[in-house]
Amino acid sequence: MPNLVYDFAEGNKDMKDLLGGKGANLAEMTNLGLPVPPGFTITTDACRAYLETGAVPAELADEIDHHVDMLQQKMGKKLGQADDPLLVSVRSGAAASMPGMMETVLNVGLNDDSVNGLAHQSGNPRFAWDAYRRLIQMFGKTVLDMDGEVFEQALDAAKEAKGARTDLDLDADDLKALVETFKQAVHDHTGREFPQDPRSQMDLATEAVFRSWNSDRAILYRRQERIAADLGTAVNICSMVFGNLGMDSGTGVAFTRDPSTGQQGVYGDYLQNAQGEDVVAGIRNTVPLADLEQLDKTSYDDLMNIMATLESHYRDLCDIEFTVERGKLWMLQTRVGKRTAAAAFRIATSLVDEGVIDTDEALRRVKGAQLAQLMFPRFDADADKDLITKAIGASPGAASGTVVFTSAAAVEAAEKGEKVILVRRETNPDDLHGMIAAQGILTSRGGKTSHAAVVARGMGKTCVCGAEELDVNVAQGTIKVNGAVIEAGETISIDGTTGEVFRGEVPVVPSPVVQYFEGTLTPDAGDELVASVHRLISHADDVRRLGVRTNADTADDAARARRFGAEGIGLCRTEHMFLGERRESVERLILADNDVDREAALAELEPLQRGDFLELLAAMDGLPVTIRLIDPPLHEFLPSMEDLAVKVAVARERGAESDHDVKLLAAVERLHEQNPMLGLRGVRLGLVVPGLFAMQVRAIASAAAELRGRGKDPRPEIMIPLVGAVQELHLARDEVERVLEEVGADVDIPIGTMIELPRAAVIADQIAEAADFFSFGTNDLTQTTWGFSRDDVEGAFFSRYLEKGIFAVSPFESIDREGVGALVRTGVDRGRSAKPDLKLGVCGEHGGDPDSIQFFHEAGLDYVSCSPFRIPVARLESGRAAL
Ligand code: ADP
Ligand code: MG
Ligand code: MG
Repeated sequence: MPNLVYDFAEGNKDMKDLLGGKGANLAEMTNLGLPVPPGFTITTDACRAYLETGAVPAELADEIDHHVDMLQQKMGKKLGQADDPLLVSVRSGAAASMPGMMETVLNVGLNDDSVNGLAHQSGNPRFAWDAYRRLIQMFGKTVLDMDGEVFEQALDAAKEAKGARTDLDLDADDLKALVETFKQAVHDHTGREFPQDPRSQMDLATEAVFRSWNSDRAILYRRQERIAADLGTAVNICSMVFGNLGMDSGTGVAFTRDPSTGQQGVYGDYLQNAQGEDVVAGIRNTVPLADLEQLDKTSYDDLMNIMATLESHYRDLCDIEFTVERGKLWMLQTRVGKRTAAAAFRIATSLVDEGVIDTDEALRRVKGAQLAQLMFPRFDADADKDLITKAIGASPGAASGTVVFTSAAAVEAAEKGEKVILVRRETNPDDLHGMIAAQGILTSRGGKTSHAAVVARGMGKTCVCGAEELDVNVAQGTIKVNGAVIEAGETISIDGTTGEVFRGEVPVVPSPVVQYFEGTLTPDAGDELVASVHRLISHADDVRRLGVRTNADTADDAARARRFGAEGIGLCRTEHMFLGERRESVERLILADNDVDREAALAELEPLQRGDFLELLAAMDGLPVTIRLIDPPLHEFLPSMEDLAVKVAVARERGAESDHDVKLLAAVERLHEQNPMLGLRGVRLGLVVPGLFAMQVRAIASAAAELRGRGKDPRPEIMIPLVGAVQELHLARDEVERVLEEVGADVDIPIGTMIELPRAAVIADQIAEAADFFSFGTNDLTQTTWGFSRDDVEGAFFSRYLEKGIFAVSPFESIDREGVGALVRTGVDRGRSAKPDLKLGVCGEHGGDPDSIQFFHEAGLDYVSCSPFRIPVARLESGRAAL
């Protein structure tokens, strides 16, 4: 049996899977010689064992005994020692950071006796009773599953009775009385006494931390952040240091750089005479970290030195929790800190300039998803705006929505498709649902390190916090601000970069990063973020092997994609060219019962198609344009069967039925399919409806010929959809080649196919004989591999599947590597085995998904194709994949 417990001195930062992020980094700091209160870490192995069996393994109990003994020796005091008790915190800490999601209990080891010892020993009874009431409060909430409100209300009542403004105005006797109230509450709610034995306090808290891995909010957070469900959390037992011993003590959080902009300099919040969460919970207003220099120069200087040490050690932005106990600095936590997308880019290039990392490493440290965030619109600086207040821009973005005050209201409104801004005094982990549902979050308390700010940044959600001018009254559903009142349901807009809050909806403009990609803002124009993006995307272009094409059906989209860096079109869907006014010609085509009528209808469509291709090929001049012949079933172009049947019935009643409608209804009924996704579509359509593919091919070839005649360089490629048998492709190809010959265009037009049926992937070697290229249609391939139709399943049961962990992310969003991905690999291998120079691409929506792009690189494709707006993301991720 491997060790289940590690002393802080035994671990290091690379042991996150076993010790959790917090434990691994506490160990790293310990070994760097930084002042970390001694302690030990119970591993994630132990947690998993506990969660599997529901009981603490016997060998774990032994190891804990041993480590408690060692800790007691080191500290020279014992848990529960009546005259001078050793106190510890019991802290959760998973491998991936899940801020505020799981539980921590402080001051474990206090009881009715030792509280007096602590009072005597510290010479500060107020402090001792404060620590004890906190223990009961945290223990009640996290270990005994009591409602935190019970304690909050008792605390509020005590303050009110005393006329106290903050908890600091309560003295030792008040707190002693509060402890009695709390203990009574524990008894009332659980039928048991608050446990007095320090070791059982510790054990119960440890088990509660284990169990908190599976709390609702932790499960929700993991799903949101795509963290695996079975990792478990470590538990850190850390000897207590006290920030609540008086005004010469305090607690704080800090960043080695600004986590919202990436600017150099120290950022953080500090709160005197406080413990633990006080600083992030917004119970009292914190002071900026810089003020610590005046308050306690020695601790401040120590902290600055340590922060410099940590940054150069981790070679990245670190965030830090620290406590000052009577003028002595203690480090309680560090990790490579979360940051906004903008900060990620700026920090990465700054570190290159500082010589700390190279450009490859910088590219590894920014993500496609972050670049996508930087492309969201901003508020228009020139628009008329009604500024209500300006507070702290905690997580950038421009969000407008109606005001809601509770997470439940946010969720309810979002389900109806409404955009909302969640307004709270402060948020806590229970607000996660509401934060996910809202467009943005606005709080009246707390700074850049408050719960709202940290979680919003993690989610890429717009957040303004610390808007102290706002008097938020959740019960009444109002915000009072400078004499005005805003009520639930009114629209406001928040700017997470500037911290501004506006009444009403503010119009938005493209972000500077989009302006850069559009070519209207140059990288040297002075915008540092744009300069960073430019450097890193250029590097990605240098190193990437994957080509990046776009999915585009119109010349406008093609032109934009080209500005964004697309190297051609990977998928032009021609069915979009059969809509609008052209529907009538399609109807005539479908209703035709003889060659003459059919050809007449096709003849109407051909010049229109030709015009479309002329524009598209011109917009992508010199670059490949893969045009997919018509794919969807024809009835999609006809009116709905129900509507038409009603219309005909009503007309018949009045004796005024139209011949056309009757014929049309008959056609609709004839073409109706139980399961259109698997019906008469794709190549099947081309083989069954004479002249349809030929018309499209003629339009493509003649458009190309015309452009060629104008001295242009059109490069169309013809793609046959939904092939499952090589015979289908042979037949379609024969027809395409016949028409190309007829038109006699002096352009070499490759003919390829989509691989979007499992059968096609499996017999890809046969299909390759008749194809010049493959494009994996991973949307249909996902549908046909899983056997579910996207439109029917996503709303119906995907959320249940995600909850139950059947998949961590929808297979339509990110490719299912094991199943669909295996078919892609099969298609690649077998296709290339028959034709080594076969060109391979992907054109499903996965082509713009960062994780999927990594996979397509590994699978050996030549290019990905995605929507125009995702092109920069695909360029960046393709570069990262190649590192
Ligand atoms: P989280 O993961 O939610 O940050 P932590 O385990 O870090 O939870 O602890 C919660 C708060 O308690 C933090 O502010 C932390 O700094 C503080 N804290 C934890 N352990 C100790 C300790 N041994 N002494 C003093 N403060 C502590
Ligand atoms: Mg912490
Ligand atoms: Mg398809």
